[in-house]
Amino acid sequence: MVSKCANPSCAATFDHRQGRLFRFPKRPVEGGRPANTHCVQHFWLCGNCHRDYLLEYHDDIGVAITRRVERTPGPRKFISAA
Ligand SMILES: [Zn+2]
Repeated sequence: MVSKCANPSCAATFDHRQGRLFRFPKRPVEGGRPANTHCVQHFWLCGNCHRDYLLEYHDDIGVAITRRVERTPGPRKFISAA
C-alpha cells in the first residue's frame, strides 16, 4: 500500500504509529473501467514531514505536497489600556 513517506526528498519508511495517512481518489483512466473501491490512492507523510507539509488533491492534476502556512500568531500588541 504505502512503503515510504510521500515527500520525495524524505526516505522515511511507513510507520502507522506516526505521521498521517491520506486517501485520494485515483484519476479514472479515460475509457477505462468504472470507478470502484480500488480507485483510491494512499499517501503517507511521516511525523516530521506532517509537521511541515500537507498533501492536497487537485482534480486533473494529481496530488501535491505543499508547505504548511505558518500559523503561529505573533504577540498581541495592545495600543490602548483598558
Ligand atoms: Zn517524511
